Amino acid sequence: MEGRTYNFSAGPAPMPRSVLERARDELLDYNHEGASIMEVSHRGKSFLEVAEQSEQNLRDLLKIPANYKVLFLQGGARGQFAGIPLNLKGKKGSADYVNSGHWAQSAIKEALRYLDVNVIADGKGASFHTMPEESEWRFSSDAAYVHYTPNETIGGLEFPFIPDSGDVPLVADMSSNILSGPIDVSRFGLIYAGAQKNIGPAGLTVVIVRDDLLDRGHSNCPAVLDYRVQADKDSMYNTPPTFAWYLAGLVFEWLKEQGGLEAMDQLNDRKAGKLYRVIDESGFYHNKVDTRWRSRMNVPFTLAAPELDKVFLAESEKNGFLYLKGHKSVGGMRASLYNAVPEEHVDALIAFMKEFERKYG
Ligand code: PMP
Repeated sequence: MEGRTYNFSAGPAPMPRSVLERARDELLDYNHEGASIMEVSHRGKSFLEVAEQSEQNLRDLLKIPANYKVLFLQGGARGQFAGIPLNLKGKKGSADYVNSGHWAQSAIKEALRYLDVNVIADGKGASFHTMPEESEWRFSSDAAYVHYTPNETIGGLEFPFIPDSGDVPLVADMSSNILSGPIDVSRFGLIYAGAQKNIGPAGLTVVIVRDDLLDRGHSNCPAVLDYRVQADKDSMYNTPPTFAWYLAGLVFEWLKEQGGLEAMDQLNDRKAGKLYRVIDESGFYHNKVDTRWRSRMNVPFTLAAPELDKVFLAESEKNGFLYLKGHKSVGGMRASLYNAVPEEHVDALIAFMKEFERKYG
């Protein structure tokens, strides 16, 4: 492993090794500038090329239609929890939210500072192990937008469909599953994602927003969060997180080299599929999420006895497996399997889990 470990962190998360190597090689002297890309002006030729090329690559990967802007911002996904109501409220008084777990709840809490929230579907009663089917969702007729969280990073629940919100813009927090497979961007009014899982390092937030939604902003919306302002300035109203943007651009190139999102889709099916299979067949490990709603990116699991948790974590760490501890709100373990986690690392985890079960089961 040459000093690197099996990293299953939920985010910030592993980056492709070849991306890190290239960043290392280019670190001191980018493009014969005699300076690092992080040391040069965001308005200089070198960085503008990085910005343009990375956006084009993201557009190619996700097949983003021409009537969508791509913004590269700061503030994280949580910044957008506020940015979305502030930009999309328009003259409406409320928005529809789907409550699928920790991150949906956090988005709702922040939105309540700015508008009324109708929770149109709630998985709380089912401990977020499943969600009501779409036919049961109570869409409002006059919502400013419909917000949902396609992948709940902590609960390990992923929507198996794109909801149909009719004429109301659909807004999606894709922080933990963007780029894990192809999606039909035209079904969405807005997609946003913190970068630190499938895009690159922390510090960058990507927003993909349909043109007609750029001018609904509240007059109190901070200019740095204002989609119209940032779109008109090519995401450079304030200084963008240039180094994170550059690294994201390298990840987009890497994704294209891997065969794009269709290839990722197959890889992610295989990686998650084999891990869930081992969990389900074991009787020692458990995952409670309804099989149709299981996440390919984040796989939480518990052991036969909670007192074994500490032993599992200590032994896994000793064997080079990092960050398998589940989020404190749900306990147990969690393996995050983002694009840059190699399939062999999942195979190694499975072998370790089988051996652990043999010893303690
Ligand atoms: N939404 C989801 C689905 C997340 O997983 C996270 C972070 N783990 C966030 C929002 C918050 O992101 P940030 O820390 O970038 O604000």
